[in-house]
Amino acid sequence: MSDKFIGTPKKATTHTNQNEDLIFEKSSPGKKAYRMPALDVPAVNAQEILGDVARKDLGIMPELSEIELVRHFTRMSTWNYAIDLGMYPLGSCTMKYNGRINELVARFEGIAEAHPYQPESLSQGVLSIMSTLSDALIEITGMDAITLQPAAGAHGEFTGILLVRAYHESKGNPRKKIIIPDSAHGTNPATAAVCGYQVANLKSNPQGMVDVTELEKMVDEDTAALMLTNPSTIGVFESEIHRIADILHAKGALLYMDGANMNALVGKTRPGDFGVDVMHLNLHKTFSTPHGGGGPGSGPVACKAILEPFLPTPILAKKGDGTLTLDYNRPQTVGRVRMFYGNFGMFVRALAYILANGPDGLRQTTEDAVLNANYLRAKLSDTFDLPYKTPSLHEVVFSDKLQARNGVKTGDMGKRMIDYGFHAYTTSFPLIVPGAMMIEPTESESREELDLLVDALKQIAQEAAENPDLVKTAPHTTRLQRLDETGAARKPILRWKAPVASTPLTPDTAAKEW
Ligand SMILES: *Cc1c(COP(=O)(O)O)cnc(C)c1O
Repeated sequence: MSDKFIGTPKKATTHTNQNEDLIFEKSSPGKKAYRMPALDVPAVNAQEILGDVARKDLGIMPELSEIELVRHFTRMSTWNYAIDLGMYPLGSCTMKYNGRINELVARFEGIAEAHPYQPESLSQGVLSIMSTLSDALIEITGMDAITLQPAAGAHGEFTGILLVRAYHESKGNPRKKIIIPDSAHGTNPATAAVCGYQVANLKSNPQGMVDVTELEKMVDEDTAALMLTNPSTIGVFESEIHRIADILHAKGALLYMDGANMNALVGKTRPGDFGVDVMHLNLHKTFSTPHGGGGPGSGPVACKAILEPFLPTPILAKKGDGTLTLDYNRPQTVGRVRMFYGNFGMFVRALAYILANGPDGLRQTTEDAVLNANYLRAKLSDTFDLPYKTPSLHEVVFSDKLQARNGVKTGDMGKRMIDYGFHAYTTSFPLIVPGAMMIEPTESESREELDLLVDALKQIAQEAAENPDLVKTAPHTTRLQRLDETGAARKPILRWKAPVASTPLTPDTAAKEW
């Protein structure tokens, strides 16, 4: 055990620590981080131009010098963990490296400066990026049509189930329930409920797969769809997927696939070929666009021809002269789900990723992701309990069963990983594995990095046996130790607030208030 990690655990701190607020508060009146050139036009009062809509209460803004501002943001960036600092084995999240080439392309002036209100004739480049990406994703998924609008996976699910609903409605009956396996991501039942469906819970079999006999009993004329993640959230491929699709289709129900785990399938097999009717993709997972930190995601929805009439408007179309256009004339559409074109910058990055890899590269990526996960599985299965022995694909799920005997839980070991320079794996998900430790290395990591992770996890398991308190009080090397996670989620403080209550102000009185 390395001594450098054994600190005296500091007092638990919360996200609202008073001292932190004082250190944080740097504002003082009159400081500026910029200097504007002198006016070369007559000064006007905003009220003269804007009338009633001009803001009267200017509020109180922090006032800082340029170096204070730079230090503030740079300092905060060092308090966080990032894929550019080390491995992020967060299972189900596919935290792969976003190649710099993607960022370079997304910053090309003609792309970054394009305006969504540019007329179509001046947007042909932008539309052709969307069209090329659409074609690539249709090819990868084996589907017939696609919308790029949804802003994330959960938003894609919502859009996909709206299509399912519109499809059944067009046949005269929206149907009542959606079947969801107990291994599903929490967004699946939430989506079904938001779209007005009852959720029917389907139990997994001992191999961690859909219990097909059970499914057969559940599917009836009231079933709108099954929402399935394949490979499932324990990284296991549903080997009976064809039969599952047949059971649903025989009763007129549809198969929705949560495509968050496509990093295990791209270039190897296509959901459209194994019976899926509609699915979403997470460009910010499988296709390397950045995620985390609340950044923009992108969750395109691909579907079979039977669902195409219901896709959100506008739809990309080609005119007789070969130019691209946006088609709004779609009488059966579910309507728009996102303003403008969707998160366009993500389309550029995803397309750059796809084109940089090419078909063979994408297949290799999938194989490497699966190889990496299985390498970790082989190296760690004598250290941690492996609840499902079924062969796994791009991620592996252990449990804390052996360490929990000493009171050390999955969350404790996840936090201890931070002391070893890694981001935690996914803790406590999927729910069918009590004390789940879900690890997804992705193809981005080298064997050397994987070996470091294995060493760290083995050492943490040893600590859990010999010195459980050390693990239970981790992390020890970070600026803050255990946070009040519930408080942070329930009462988040998301913006800077002036220390003095703001009353209606003019620029003159603002300074005096300080
Ligand atoms: C990430 C994920 C989602 C949700 O995607 P977001 O982009 O985070 O909304 C849904 N299902 C599974 C299995 C996932 O891993």
